Amino acid sequence: METGETEGRARPRAKESYTTRRTFAIISHPDAGKTTLTEKLLLTGGAIEMAGAVRAKGNKARAKSDWMNIERDRGISVTSSVMTFEKDGINFNLLDTPGHSDFSEDTYRTLTAVDSAIMVIDAAKGIEGQTRKLFEICRLRDIPIITFVNKIDREGRDPFELLDEIEEQLAMDVAPMIWPVGQGGLFKGCYDLKRNDFIAAKTHETTHYEGGLDDPALKARLGEATHDGFREAAELALEGYADFDAAAYRDGHLTPVIFGSALENFAVDRLMDLIAAHAPEPRPQPSDKGPVDPSGEKVSGFVFKVQANMDPKHRDRVAFVRFCSGHFKRGMKLDHVRSGKAIAVSNPIYFVAQERSLTEEAYAGDVIGIPNHGTLQVGDTLTEGESFRFTGLPAFAPEVLRRVRLEDTMKMKQLRRGLEDLAQEGLVQVFRPTFGSDWIVGVVGPLQLDVLASRISGEYKADVTFEPVQYNVARWIRCSNEQTLKQFIKDNATQVVRDRDDRPVYLCRDDWDLRYVMDRNKDIAFDATREIV
Ligand code: GDP
Repeated sequence: METGETEGRARPRAKESYTTRRTFAIISHPDAGKTTLTEKLLLTGGAIEMAGAVRAKGNKARAKSDWMNIERDRGISVTSSVMTFEKDGINFNLLDTPGHSDFSEDTYRTLTAVDSAIMVIDAAKGIEGQTRKLFEICRLRDIPIITFVNKIDREGRDPFELLDEIEEQLAMDVAPMIWPVGQGGLFKGCYDLKRNDFIAAKTHETTHYEGGLDDPALKARLGEATHDGFREAAELALEGYADFDAAAYRDGHLTPVIFGSALENFAVDRLMDLIAAHAPEPRPQPSDKGPVDPSGEKVSGFVFKVQANMDPKHRDRVAFVRFCSGHFKRGMKLDHVRSGKAIAVSNPIYFVAQERSLTEEAYAGDVIGIPNHGTLQVGDTLTEGESFRFTGLPAFAPEVLRRVRLEDTMKMKQLRRGLEDLAQEGLVQVFRPTFGSDWIVGVVGPLQLDVLASRISGEYKADVTFEPVQYNVARWIRCSNEQTLKQFIKDNATQVVRDRDDRPVYLCRDDWDLRYVMDRNKDIAFDATREIV
């Protein structure tokens, strides 16, 4: 730890083992309170001293960068990062997922690197579009979910209505854990149904009631009228819904529900307790040699995100690696399976709020950033002398395609560099046409184009505009018979482009055209997703 102390904050760690790791993400619809909850988790975990620091520091550090202005103006978060904090012997790794629906691809990849998720729901709104989408991704990957019903300090919907909505719409059992006493103007605090604690609004004073809901002291505290209403509701909640069952939660069949307030820092500590006690420790990760167990001795991990220019002054690129097994130590040489070369990881960084420091070691479940010059790409596997690859990291076919027009043709080099960097980050997919020299870019949502133009201008000093192309659908094409594929590419040369790994991609006008071509080329597979390898 000597170096950690001289070069930055020592990584907080209690027990030196993967079993203390809780690696998770927050999923929510924009405005539900993800940022506020993140701040309060960091505050509770001692990673920041003052609430508001995430946003304040973030804005200061990012003020120079244009694309961050887009983020600020639109009030959305467009980057993912990782935040590490420690409390009572548990190491929390919180992976931030971008909030806007346009960035689902990045979000999806981030969710491949977590073992559990917190779903934040606005008490006044219930389940919204983006929450549902992200929930579906979690379900696909069997990621267990804790639900935090936020903004209970102000007027919201009836708690029963909200629970029923979660149960019905997401088809899973709900187990109320923390129940509100009054809501909005009448909000008195919350009651922990499992521990029989009352946490008072405003003061946050916590009192344990041995006699539970019927404890006369609780009745005296709340006043008869409030107590009657609360007790009835709480009993109904306990009887009408599933009891918390840790195994059912871990299997994704049940979600424990906490009613709280991120803004008031209300029940956030109970949320952390729940994660510490029941959220899964690092789970085995799928690979082409079968699941890799976190208890394995040899170090392994995969890159789930690459971010260029985190610090605009230094033009650096950081690959985020999630470890899946072993005990990583700084300076270790790891095998980069894709290239077959060894890389010495001498500057691994970890993140506390917006600060980064060097880390000396890491276990399965931990996420570190490795600064590099483009060697590490999303989907890459790092191992300690083994040659398997982690699987299940997808790329999605873009839904918006545009031709890139450069304002000043002298800036070709800058444009190429920018597109390559940002493609590597996963912000955009870049395609090279067989004919002509203009790049075609593909994104999953149109907002990404604004971010792309703004970043290329700000970070690479090239101004670009985008022109529509006549295609709206892109599919990766493959065929077991090489000759058949070659002939198809030749016959459709104007509609076949290459992705950055030189894989052929077929472009067509719409789904109708696609079906037509698929019908006539049954030997060829047209893929909407592909695994990144
Ligand atoms: P995000 O888009 O999900 O990251 O949401 P934010 O954390 O930025 O919150 C959106 C808005 O809701 C902000 O104005 C917050 O101050 C507010 N907010 C967040 N949590 C609460 C809460 O518990 N109670 C109330 N009343 N407002 C909240």
